[in-house]
Amino acid sequence: MQIIDGKALSSKIRAEISAQVAELKSKGVEACLAVILVGNDPSSELYVKNKVKASEEVGIKSILCRFPLTVTEKELIDEIERLNADDTVSGILVQLPLPDSIDEKKITAHIDVNKDVDGFSAYQTGLLCLGTPDLVPCTPQGIIALIESTGVKIAGKHAVIVGRSNIVGRPTLQLLLQRDATVTICHSKTKNIAEITRQADIIVAAVGKPCFVTPDMIKEGAVVVDVGINAVDGKLVGDVDPAVVGKASAYTPVPGGIGVVSNMMVMDLLTRNQ
Ligand code: NAP
Repeated sequence: MQIIDGKALSSKIRAEISAQVAELKSKGVEACLAVILVGNDPSSELYVKNKVKASEEVGIKSILCRFPLTVTEKELIDEIERLNADDTVSGILVQLPLPDSIDEKKITAHIDVNKDVDGFSAYQTGLLCLGTPDLVPCTPQGIIALIESTGVKIAGKHAVIVGRSNIVGRPTLQLLLQRDATVTICHSKTKNIAEITRQADIIVAAVGKPCFVTPDMIKEGAVVVDVGINAVDGKLVGDVDPAVVGKASAYTPVPGGIGVVSNMMVMDLLTRNQ
């Protein structure tokens, strides 16, 4: 049984990106990430803090654009247009969720598709679905990196994803399909989920429900990627019951799995986007 070490993978990626950033700087090219944060929700603050920290670690400049909860759609759109026009800014992230008074889709649709390092725009999603990805969302990219770090060949495997969100489930489906897996995606209306997950060589759990995937839901030797981040009694708990370690061939822990890897994937995109 292999506990997939997200921290070790993240350190390896960080070293590679730092070298690329240094090489780009020596040629006078500098990446810069702009992050827009509205309000001071503790989870959003943490996500943004981690992204800013990750960019500092690899030597990428970051700009944090803070707005109060009272910000208007126009003010946010004006800021995005300003960042779109700024040639020194190579990537723009809008931390979600935004306040109810703001239409998230309307705001994110204003980000220049070439600076959309979240990869959530219709253009980037379309390229991904066509099998010609450009800017791929960081968490799905991190999921693939974690699976590949085990040495498992994805081609020909049956991968089952639990969760069909635009942020995790759907883009992960596309990335696995591009690597020639046979992919099944489950969601809240799927019947007999355990029967389906028990057929999986690779399981990706992105449900948002603590310990949703239990040992009886996996087959012996499956590779299990736990994307879930749930706060339970002050602790971080994944979507997979850690007791699967007795059955899985490889498993990503929470914390220490996907979370630390996905931030580095944004930095990877920023350097490749130069
Ligand atoms: P989401 O948008 O809430 O989507 C959850 C998905 O799970 C939906 O497709 C939903 O089905 C499905 N689902 C809910 N209850 C279910 C049930 N009982 N049986 C089967 N499927 C069910 O969540 P998300 O944004 O994808 O995030 C999922 C988890 O990953 C969360 O814990 C989140 O915090 C974590 N996350 C981690 C990272 C990271 O980098 N580590 C990044 C993003 C998210 P329907 O579509 O039918 O509603």
